Amino acid sequence: MIRAHGFAADSPTSGLKPFEFDRRDVGATDVHIEVLFCGICHSDIHSVRSEWGVSQYPLVPGHEVLGKVVATGKKVKNFKVGAVVGVGCFVWSCGKCAACQRGDEQFCPACVFTYGGMDPIRKEPTRGGYSDRIVVDQRYVLKIPAGQPLERVAPLLCAGITTYAPLKKAKLKRGSKVGVVGLGGLGHVAVKIAAAMGADVTVFSTSARKKVDAKRLGAKNFVVTKDPGALKPLAGTFDYILDTVSAEHDINALLACLKVDGEMVKVGAPEKPMSVSAFSLIMGRRRLGGSLIGGIKATQEMLNFCAKKKILADVEVIAPGQIDQAYDRTVAGDVKYRFVIDLKR
Ligand code: NAP
Ligand code: ZN
Ligand code: ZN
Repeated sequence: MIRAHGFAADSPTSGLKPFEFDRRDVGATDVHIEVLFCGICHSDIHSVRSEWGVSQYPLVPGHEVLGKVVATGKKVKNFKVGAVVGVGCFVWSCGKCAACQRGDEQFCPACVFTYGGMDPIRKEPTRGGYSDRIVVDQRYVLKIPAGQPLERVAPLLCAGITTYAPLKKAKLKRGSKVGVVGLGGLGHVAVKIAAAMGADVTVFSTSARKKVDAKRLGAKNFVVTKDPGALKPLAGTFDYILDTVSAEHDINALLACLKVDGEMVKVGAPEKPMSVSAFSLIMGRRRLGGSLIGGIKATQEMLNFCAKKKILADVEVIAPGQIDQAYDRTVAGDVKYRFVIDLKR
């Protein structure tokens, strides 16, 4: 066993506290990673607070894991000690089913999430990247292109792939009218990626103060959704909308902004169900869909794409002692635009 020092929640309201636990020994195909940085995704908060159903505690969150290889199993050929690597939202899948074969490991029935899943070897709950080390099978370890500020790459491991995968699937053309709803961790990366793909991006936000940032990030337009009547002039003008909002909001008002045959994809996962009027879809033959992170091949492709296009997350680096405060600020929309934990502090 390998002793790890992490940060865990004991209950939905306990906050995150230091927690020692064991990682499995490094197996033949495993990579032992010393964690340097881990992003705080809103999914960590939903999970810690049991907003998506009752979580298992103690819970060590974290699936935007960036670190250095400190040891490898004897069958590991692609990763050397000292290499900078990443781990995203899952750490196991069957490798054989149709989803795995397609590169959609996240939909494998045996997919094991980085935290809150069941380690297939140890038969114990998986624990995430809010910890000083992690042991992961080589199939789920990503290569990080050299020469980048690592704290700004970490969020790409979830926020990056979650927005890149649906945007790529949308087959955007130069000048496609794309809306990004919610300018948080996912949203700000989505703006950068969609703009890099050539889209004409509009940010839909509840926070008027984010307008200057939205433009700096690559958006051409900015709409404050709380302003009465703000969406009216936009009716029928968007090819595609990516909705990253983490809480309840009016989906029908957003659907109305789509052109005929336009599509809105939800990646934000609010706690409560939301109502969709059939007419929002029927009128204009619009489609509403969803998307869950992305497979390993797509994640590596996204990391390479972002390195080439110089896309990095805008981050606020914190010490582990500040996690509770960062959670509260994220929920309040007060984040620019991703908190990242420096595990060495
Ligand atoms: P985040 O940083 O908190 O950003 C969410 C943004 O949504 C906020 O900054 C805010 O932007 C907007 N918002 C919040 N409350 C709102 C409300 N009541 N009405 C309208 N807008 C509101 O969160 P994140 O880390 O980007 O994650 C966003 C969501 O995606 C979460 O639900 C998360 O669990 C989910 N997620 C899904 C996947 C997936 O695979 N599908 C992967 C990762 C995360 P403005 O201030 O601009 O309005
Ligand atoms: Zn996430
Ligand atoms: Zn599978």
